[in-house]
Amino acid sequence: MPRKNLRRSAIVVLDQEKTLNGRVAVPLRARHLDFGEKWSYAPAPEAHDYIKLQPRYQLFIGGKFVAPRSGKYFASINPATEEKLAEIAEADARDIDLAVKSARRAYKNVWSKMPGRERGKFLYRIARLIQEKSRELAVLETMDGGKTIKESRDIDLPLVAAHFFYYAGWADKLEYAFPGRTARPLGVAGQIIPWNFPLLMAAWKLAPALACGNTCVLKPAETTSITAMHLAQIFQEAELPDGVVNIVTGAGETGKALVDHSDINKIAFTGSTSVGKLLTQAVAGTNKRLTLELGGKAANIIFEDAPIDQAVEGIISGIYFNQGHVCCAGSRLLVQEGVFRAVIRKLRDRIATLRVGNPLDKNTDIGAINSRMQLDKICELVDSGLQQGAELVQSSAKLPAKGYWYPPSFFTGVTASHRIAQEEIFGPVLSVMTFRTPEEAIERANNTPYGLSAGVWTDKGSKIFKIVSKLRAGVVWANTYNKFDPTSPFGGYKESGFGREGGRHGLLPYVALS
Ligand code: NAP
Ligand code: MG
Repeated sequence: MPRKNLRRSAIVVLDQEKTLNGRVAVPLRARHLDFGEKWSYAPAPEAHDYIKLQPRYQLFIGGKFVAPRSGKYFASINPATEEKLAEIAEADARDIDLAVKSARRAYKNVWSKMPGRERGKFLYRIARLIQEKSRELAVLETMDGGKTIKESRDIDLPLVAAHFFYYAGWADKLEYAFPGRTARPLGVAGQIIPWNFPLLMAAWKLAPALACGNTCVLKPAETTSITAMHLAQIFQEAELPDGVVNIVTGAGETGKALVDHSDINKIAFTGSTSVGKLLTQAVAGTNKRLTLELGGKAANIIFEDAPIDQAVEGIISGIYFNQGHVCCAGSRLLVQEGVFRAVIRKLRDRIATLRVGNPLDKNTDIGAINSRMQLDKICELVDSGLQQGAELVQSSAKLPAKGYWYPPSFFTGVTASHRIAQEEIFGPVLSVMTFRTPEEAIERANNTPYGLSAGVWTDKGSKIFKIVSKLRAGVVWANTYNKFDPTSPFGGYKESGFGREGGRHGLLPYVALS
């Protein structure tokens, strides 16, 4: 469709009757973008009929798949269709105890004694098997979590394999990672991960821990456990010694039991700041080491001298990538006043072209929201934004009848005290604010309890360095956004947590140095 037709499209005010996922949208100030016919592509669905889903996934303990002591299972559903995909075992404290004991045995008898070069071979083997099965794993990730196949295939899975390859390389070189010091493993690591990058978070946790000689008990998130269990099958295929990795599924209680187990040496957690705070209390007064990768409310800062078209693409990938289910999402946009109108116009045009729908379609830009609970959270925060007086601009993309969806949206008229400027929405909703001077941009960007990431867009290198050194954020991207690499450390300041994952820094949480 030619671009001039897009420009002619209407912007209409949402009325009381229009509903969003069954909810009545608040009529005040909400503007719905309706560009009529979208750039039409024929459906291009990824095949999934060959995927071998098991009706039931058991726990992975001591190298075997075993039933949970409780005999209980819960359903894992496809958030794009609300169909049940499989049943997942619910582990309780007894299963956790078995898993920790098995990890301890494997640590003492096998893994901590194995030379680094031998541990590295297992990690290389795992990495290669992940590559071999990457299409199947990407499809599973998309079916269970709702993210688009474009992302799971082109971003998640290549990064998962890359993490295992990267840390495989460190396994026999720890003496070079910490020159002049001796690095020893800690023992058994309990690792708890969220649902937004299920396999990638598993890789971030497992690969460095194993490279350093620790054994692991991993707890995936309740809504996205399936790919972790397929990873367990890869561990079996790679003949990883029994008990080196154990995977226990379940909800928050399962995670709590893992944290509370007395024979754990290290807890690594990625998730919300509220649960992170509970974990800090739980490990206080124990010998357990802790690292936390928590929430964020990143500012993407656009200066007047920035290449605007490129910056708008950066904003789009910053907030709409993975439905905004990204801890480091550029969820606040700070625009210098002189380019505000231009940026908003381009952003408006651009979000109207984003395709929302079947995540298995290769052309889809925005997939399903991970769960009903997350959708409710997004709607509640959007409502708060409207009630507090911000203006909502929303794509009128047709949402499928079944499943959990949220159209790409952004708020203007946001002030620093609005909840949508302070709290993590964790959905495809951007809060736009303006600034006049670099000092004001820095102050605004730092004005949240979080400090995980940020973005800067300008054509002046000197400005980049000046701003970056004053931003309280663990990762700052310049003239790009959401770029990841296993060699690069990642982690936060303030309520975004502590400790680093990735790169040489990512080894540190898993070793004792002498
Ligand atoms: P969450 O509720 O904190 O859950 C994270 C994990 O902790 C899940 O496996 C969860 O189990 C488990 N859990 C829940 N309560 C627990 C407890 N009391 N003790 C031990 N474990 C417990 O977070 P989420 O909502 O799933 O994930 C989204 C959050 O993660 C966002 O805030 C996001 O910013 C953050 N995140 C941060 C990073 C980072 O690197 N900084 C990366 C990704 C996500 P169940 O889910 O099964 O209940
Ligand atoms: Mg699911």
